[in-house]
Amino acid sequence: MDEQRKIVFSQESEEDQVYSLSLRPILINDFVGQQDLMHNLQVSLQAAKQRREPVEHMLFSGPPGLGKTSLANIVAHEMGARITITSGPAITRAGDLIGILTNLERGDVLFIDEIHRLSKVVEEFLYPAMENFKIDFIVDKGPYAKTINFNLKPFTLIGATTRSGLLASPLRDRFGIFHHLDFYSPEELSQIVSRSAVKLNVTLDGKAAFEIAQRARGTPRIVNRLLRRVRDFAQVKASGWIDHSIVIEAMQKLAIDEKGLDEMDRRLLKVLDSHYKGGPVGVETLAATLNEEVDTIVDVVEPYLLKIGFLKRTPRGRELTESSIQHIQGKSRLKEVLQRERYE
Ligand code: ADP
Repeated sequence: MDEQRKIVFSQESEEDQVYSLSLRPILINDFVGQQDLMHNLQVSLQAAKQRREPVEHMLFSGPPGLGKTSLANIVAHEMGARITITSGPAITRAGDLIGILTNLERGDVLFIDEIHRLSKVVEEFLYPAMENFKIDFIVDKGPYAKTINFNLKPFTLIGATTRSGLLASPLRDRFGIFHHLDFYSPEELSQIVSRSAVKLNVTLDGKAAFEIAQRARGTPRIVNRLLRRVRDFAQVKASGWIDHSIVIEAMQKLAIDEKGLDEMDRRLLKVLDSHYKGGPVGVETLAATLNEEVDTIVDVVEPYLLKIGFLKRTPRGRELTESSIQHIQGKSRLKEVLQRERYE
């Protein structure tokens, strides 16, 4: 995947992983936004601390890059607990999960990202572990087979998912606390990007911060990524100081428009417009035309377009809206005019 395409996705790139360690909020007060969620979370943490018990199992849902992993780290930090981080696709065998669970100390946090992608077999081992802090496993085969029960130390499981609807209900029912993370406002993202600038030692004025924030698809991971790209521009093209004009220039070069839409977003809207007359069209067909995974469309691209009213999800498929038609057709009309002017 080339550099441009990497920017397109809100999924975590290797560069994000490196930077997220330094930019990730660690304390509750460093976490910007999601006020209601944070208020309820603080109550749960305080109550558990007063009872001297591990906090209940929690499920965080929401699109990628909104702070689910950061919240899990904050919970562990607040509880003075260790955190073990893994993900649904990484636990391929029940033995892997048993290994992780038996190594947990009392009060530890186990964070499973993309928990909806756990295999059925592994998931079933998780049920008694979550409910009674026990696991049963069978050793040997045939007449020699016997079940061994193993007591675990009480721990907190934190699951993160981009699609809570895909979670099997026995798993969902075993979480005591649910939180859904929503997209951030430009004001909140502006606060995040200003703090990140301080950490990265770059100078950024308020107007520039707000411009980056408005183009970040409501997502902290993207706002931090855009800041790093703009920082490169400022370093190479200007004095290193980031002002509004540098941001605008960088965004043009990165092909991120004033709504924050990138190549992938526009490609999806344009395909819907040109191939399917604005829809409705099923997501599988759309993904095949775009040569993308259905999961990428559903988890990464679509949520923001739905949020800003650029896409409608109907029982018959995905449809453009009046504002998205205006957005893309306005742009292509502008292109037509510019092209015509060039030849005249
Ligand atoms: P998710 O697990 O939902 O994909 P992460 O927790 O990995 O998201 O967040 C990605 C990055 O965005 C973090 O490393 C952090 O720098 C930043 N971030 C996310 N949420 C916040 C927030 N509420 N306040 C400040 N920074 C945040």
